[in-house]
Amino acid sequence: MKKVHVETWGCQMNVADSEKMLSLLHGMDYALTENESEADLFLLNTCHIREKAKHKVLSRLGVLRDLKEKRPGVQIAVAGCVAQAEGAKLLKAAPQIDILLGPGKIEELPDLLSRSTGNGSAVMALGFNKPGEEKKRAHGQDVVPPTLTGKNEVTRFVNITQGCNNFCTFCIVPFTRGREISRKPDEILDECRLLLANGASEIMLLGQNVNSYGLDLLDSRKLSAGEDGPFVELLRQVVTLPGLKRLRFTTSNPHDFTQPLAQLFADDSRMGKYMHLPVQSGNDHVLEVMRRKVTVAEYRERIRWLRDAVPDMAISTDLIVGFPGETEAEFEDTLKLVEEVQYSFIFAFKYSPRKGTAAARMPGQISEAVMDERLARLNALQDSITMRQAEADCGTIQNVLFLYRSKKNPGVFYGRTEHFRLVKVESSGQLVGDCLPVLITGGNKTALIGIVVGDPEHQGSNHEHETGDSVQH
Ligand code: SF4
Repeated sequence: MKKVHVETWGCQMNVADSEKMLSLLHGMDYALTENESEADLFLLNTCHIREKAKHKVLSRLGVLRDLKEKRPGVQIAVAGCVAQAEGAKLLKAAPQIDILLGPGKIEELPDLLSRSTGNGSAVMALGFNKPGEEKKRAHGQDVVPPTLTGKNEVTRFVNITQGCNNFCTFCIVPFTRGREISRKPDEILDECRLLLANGASEIMLLGQNVNSYGLDLLDSRKLSAGEDGPFVELLRQVVTLPGLKRLRFTTSNPHDFTQPLAQLFADDSRMGKYMHLPVQSGNDHVLEVMRRKVTVAEYRERIRWLRDAVPDMAISTDLIVGFPGETEAEFEDTLKLVEEVQYSFIFAFKYSPRKGTAAARMPGQISEAVMDERLARLNALQDSITMRQAEADCGTIQNVLFLYRSKKNPGVFYGRTEHFRLVKVESSGQLVGDCLPVLITGGNKTALIGIVVGDPEHQGSNHEHETGDSVQH
């Protein structure tokens, strides 16, 4: 049996794609290895969302070139968004690559591998399938058996769409992942059933914009106002599958977010009480130039739908600081929105121009120094909000789904509350996969700490986190 070493950069879509490729490789008699020295194939699944990510891939390819010189039989496959965006240019910069595979052509990996000679002439599959063109896979074939990944088996990712139709002016995704194509509901449900039967407790549905899932499957039928729509219909079916303890999804575009979706959180506790709803900026002019297709008022309305349905709904968001032309006053509108919404956490980034996008050609690019200063202020504000929330959680009992055990310390377990807050618990038992009541005793901006309620095996001493401010009750 041959061995493959997989390295995944970037988002959960890439994690799901890596699992899919592993499944295909498994069918070709490859086993996963963490040990680089025994790998016959290195599979780099790359991310192109930031310039830094691309440089990391190139520097890793430099290391693999040296390794390949010492072990000539080794093959190198580069998949993901860098492969798609750079194409043949990447082969010039890194001729040690044997296989180049875009995210829209994953099914072609076995074919490429059988054609690859490993002697310096690369084979590639780039570009995108048109709807209905994707190769038919046998039932369950694209699902990796949990034992193969050796990773977290509690949460499993399921792609429901590929690509995006939105063309936000800062984003490279529509160019690297193509236009939106939805998978058929039956195929998604079959994959979820298989994962649940193999030990998953939590399913995470993935897409660049899950809220527009299935609109391309409607043919000529138009949605009428107030109708659930294909995404809500899909969630209603997935959430009732036997064995499921939690259902999550990402990423949502507020433009396509609907009131029936907000209501679903009130209807079924397995939906949790958490939603990631990226806004990117708190200023209407910046949102317009970003081509986000919603105003701040419309975004607020969606937050209201969610909190009308579930008053203690936790919400997180993505924010970009220093978008071209962003003034100090426009940035301060973002600070105001963060203060108002009281996010659980934020993913805040400095604007990073991506070649080929409209924003990269815009005037008024902001200096690094200004972006650094704005990012620091934004993160400081969010840290103070997160710390206040951690204090408020102390003394409460939260339902925690335990996801994994610490690699360094097997007596330490990590899980998530319904509000998606990370919780650390010590126990002499085995908690992974269980959903248990936990008394929160402390925490910091990264995680809460607590004690499992009512089970002596799960009682553990709690202590402060190794780093950062913490609150203790
Ligand atoms: S909706 Fe998301 S993936 Fe699509 S273009 Fe906008 S930021 Fe990119």
